[in-house]
Amino acid sequence: MKAASSIAIVVLGESALPVARRIQARYPGSLVHGFANRVHADIAYDDFGAHLRALYLAATPIVALCAAGIVIRSLAPCLTNKSAEPPVLAVAQDGSAVVPLLGGTSGVNVLARELAAALDVTPAITTSGELRFGMCLLAPPEGYALADMERGKRFVSGLLAGETTRIEGHAPWLHEADLPRAHDARLAVRITPYVMNDESSLVIHPRCVAAWIEAPDDAIADRVQRALREHGLSPLALAALVAPTESMTFDALSDAANTLDVPLRFSNEQPPNDALRAHGVALSVAEAPIDVESIGRARGRLTVIGLGPGSADLMTPAAKAALASAQDVLGYETYVRMAGPFRADQRVHMTDNREELQRARHAFELASAGRKVVVVSSGDPGVFAMAAAVLEALDEGRATHAEWAAVKLAIVPGVSASLATAARAGAPLGHDFCVLSLSDNLKPWDVIEHRIRHASEADLVMAFYNPLSKARPWQFDRAIDIVREHRDAATPVVLGRDVGRPAETMRVVTLGELHGGLVDMRTMVIVGSTKTRVIGNGEWVYTPRSY
Ligand code: SAH
Repeated sequence: MKAASSIAIVVLGESALPVARRIQARYPGSLVHGFANRVHADIAYDDFGAHLRALYLAATPIVALCAAGIVIRSLAPCLTNKSAEPPVLAVAQDGSAVVPLLGGTSGVNVLARELAAALDVTPAITTSGELRFGMCLLAPPEGYALADMERGKRFVSGLLAGETTRIEGHAPWLHEADLPRAHDARLAVRITPYVMNDESSLVIHPRCVAAWIEAPDDAIADRVQRALREHGLSPLALAALVAPTESMTFDALSDAANTLDVPLRFSNEQPPNDALRAHGVALSVAEAPIDVESIGRARGRLTVIGLGPGSADLMTPAAKAALASAQDVLGYETYVRMAGPFRADQRVHMTDNREELQRARHAFELASAGRKVVVVSSGDPGVFAMAAAVLEALDEGRATHAEWAAVKLAIVPGVSASLATAARAGAPLGHDFCVLSLSDNLKPWDVIEHRIRHASEADLVMAFYNPLSKARPWQFDRAIDIVREHRDAATPVVLGRDVGRPAETMRVVTLGELHGGLVDMRTMVIVGSTKTRVIGNGEWVYTPRSY
């Protein structure tokens, strides 16, 4: 079962952890979600009900180690569409009971049997068809799709009422089912890619059709649908779109693949001779479900994301989504650890902080081989971070690595340290401000001095990144001396260290008090303008919007 790799094992307290870890061992790649501050799990949540609903709505299989009633009550507001729900099970904290609750058609009973076997108990299976036939006939395995749920239910009722069935077509998984078979049965299970309007059949479509697009245009999805209809094939039998490699950067193709909800592959091979043709589409029909990976290659993706300053709640959903679909994750070790935990099927490439260009080239190499690659930065990837390095690599590689240009590149923003620090302090960046890195690794020190002088003169609030390191011990004090030439000693300065991380500290000092001993590489320094004010004893700092 495909979904099993990303099961969410949800616990409320420490006492459920041993059983949770046993279940996790049975499903490599699954993660244990625990109540923040109460359990040391892989993922922390604050609100059980909200967390469960979010998992459910994201179609994540849920194994909750708690009373069935709690799970039912939490999910009740979301229970509308039965065909689209993930498996949901309640498991007793001590592992003594396994109760499938929801997801009858997405394999909950299969999961229940597996879990029960792992915990050495009998699962509480209550589905009648399942009990009689030993499996859910309406939840075919990966690679197959049930044609019609309502008809399927009527079919199962018929069998439960005493009818017999034939099997037409190749359904290897049904060998294990305990079906009342008869050669002359009125009812039939039909495994076919063709549309069947037949009340007495349980129709299951193997995903065995590939649609080869000869000349991609803007009407691809429509042409494929019409071609399928013309040849009597079900859209559920469609396994992939295949297009010529030259059309890799043609966006209408990925739009069409999304519309049709199938993967998009690129190949310069010709479709098979016996393919069915219509509307400029060649439909190749295989005997059994197609292994999509065996056709050509995918268009690689490279997404540069910002993790925000540290805590998971300051990471954007877009960044989380990119991480969830990544096959390869690259970045500086600290940040990669911040982005985890990862599933067993995700490859993680950790490198030293200084090897940015090399990391960017490596990312393009992986992506241009068809992989889904994510490069992580802290904060925002475009602020003194990987996004610029990735574009430099692309720019530099234009002549030597033309294939990099076909990679689908995206930059996902994040909450930068200056913004996170400012928010904690109030609104010091409430009016015009500038952002400066004090690191002279990549630019000469006199450029930095020049900019600080002009920013000070212009009365901009200044946010200093990379304020001081062991290799650059005196530069910070020099920078502050320049600012002091233009600003009063009472000017407020915000120092945020490890903002959004467990060790966070916030301090408000004056420009007169500021010196290098108060900052390090994990500190964000915001120096106020002549208008920046402090309320009370430094509770809030803000820069008014008007002069
Ligand atoms: N891309 C990052 C910045 C990278 S430069 C961003 O947008 O935030 C690294 C510098 O950012 C550090 O030297 C420090 O000055 C600042 N910084 C990064 N994370 C921080 C945090 N959590 N708290 C305070 N400062 C941080």
